Amino acid sequence: MASNVMKFGTKAIHGGLEPDLATGAVMTPIYQTTTYRQLSPGEHKGYAYSRSSNPTRKALENNLASLENGKYGLCFGSGVAAIDAILKMLRPGDEVLSTNDLYGGSYRIFTQIFAHFGIKFTFVSMSDMAEVEKHITEKTRLLWVETPTNPMMNIIDIWACSQIAKLHKVLLVVDNTFASPFLQNPLDLGADIVMHSVTKYIGGHSDVVMGALITKDDHLAEKLYFIQNSSGAISGPQDCFLVLRGIKTLHLRMQRHCENGVTIANFLRSHPLVDKVYWPGFEDNPGYVIAKQQMSGFGGMLSFTLKGNKKADAFTFLSNCKVFTLAESLGGVESLLCHPATMTHAAIPNGEREKIGVVDTLIRLSVGVEDIDDLIEDLKYSLSLIKS
Ligand SMILES: *Cc1c(COP(=O)(O)O)cnc(C)c1O
Repeated sequence: MASNVMKFGTKAIHGGLEPDLATGAVMTPIYQTTTYRQLSPGEHKGYAYSRSSNPTRKALENNLASLENGKYGLCFGSGVAAIDAILKMLRPGDEVLSTNDLYGGSYRIFTQIFAHFGIKFTFVSMSDMAEVEKHITEKTRLLWVETPTNPMMNIIDIWACSQIAKLHKVLLVVDNTFASPFLQNPLDLGADIVMHSVTKYIGGHSDVVMGALITKDDHLAEKLYFIQNSSGAISGPQDCFLVLRGIKTLHLRMQRHCENGVTIANFLRSHPLVDKVYWPGFEDNPGYVIAKQQMSGFGGMLSFTLKGNKKADAFTFLSNCKVFTLAESLGGVESLLCHPATMTHAAIPNGEREKIGVVDTLIRLSVGVEDIDDLIEDLKYSLSLIKS
C-alpha cells in the first residue's frame, strides 16, 4: 500500500518502512556502523559513511516524511540542531519574522547565536495577520511559526500565514512539536518546512533527544541535506531505532493525551483557585475556530494561572504534585508540569516574558497517558495545599 493513501495509524506503523532487505527483519535493525564496504571506489548500495546516510536513520526519515505528508525527512541530534540547519540556509542581512510567543530555546538560538552572524529577527504576535504582513520587508526570507505556541497555547492560522508567505516569496517554517503530526500537518496547509523536536510527542517516552525537518520541496530538501551532512548534527542509529519504536504507538498515545487533556482543562477551569486556563479547546478561546480547522484534536498541553498571582502559591503547587513530575520537556507518556517563568522561558527577559503572559503563577502541564482519576486527584490534592 502506498504511503500517501494510508490512514495515520497505518502510516505510524508502516509508512515509508520496508522489512530489512538483507534479512527480512520486520523491525528496522540498528545499523551501528560508521562505514560501508565499497566494491570499487564509489560503487556502493547508497551508503558510504554514516554522517551522510545510515539505514536506520533513513528508515526513520522516510517514516517521518510519511507522517507529515512530505517527501523528505531529515533527522538531527536535537530539535535545536534542526532549527540550526534551517537558519544556515540564510545569509548575513537576511531577516526572519517570528511569532513572539515561542519556545525559549528557539528564541535563544535566534537572538544569541544567529543574530551575531548578521541575521535579523523580528518578533510579532501572529494571531493578527495584518500585523504579520506589516513587518515583512524586502529582506524577509523566512516566517517562523509555532502553533499551538509555548506556553500560552495561542493558535496561529497556518493557511493564512502560507498565503502571506507565498505572496512575498518567503519560506514558511512551522514548529509542529506541540501538535505532533497526529493532530496537525502544516505541509498540507501550505508550509514549506515542518520542524519537530522529536524529543517530545514523536519519541514519546522521554528517552531520546532528537530533531527533524520534513519538506515536499526537492530544492529545499537538497539544501537541507547538504547542511545536515556538512554541519553534521545527525542522530545516531540507536536513537533512531527508539524513535521508530515510539512512533508505532503515536496515534494511540495521542488519542489518550487528548482525552485526558479535555478532562483536566475542564477540571481546572471549574477550580476556585485557578484564574485562567489556556487551552484551545474551549469555545471561548480566541484560537478555537482556527484550532478546529487545522487540528484534529486539542492535545495534551495546557497552561493555567492561579488567582492572586503569588509565586509562592505556584511553588507550593508545583512541589506537591506526585503523579505529575516537575520537569522540563513534554510529550512523554508520563505527566509533567513546569514553571515557564523560571524554567523553559528563563532565557527571555522579564518584561518580554510578562508581556506575552508568562506571569509568576503560570504553570504548564504536559498531560500524560496515565489513568485520568489519578491525575485529577493529584492536581486536586496539590491545589488544596495552597493557603492563601
Ligand atoms: C523542545 C522544543 C524544541 C527544541 O527541541 P530539543 O529537542 O529540546 O532540542 C523546539 N521547539 C519546541 C516547541 C519544543 O518544545
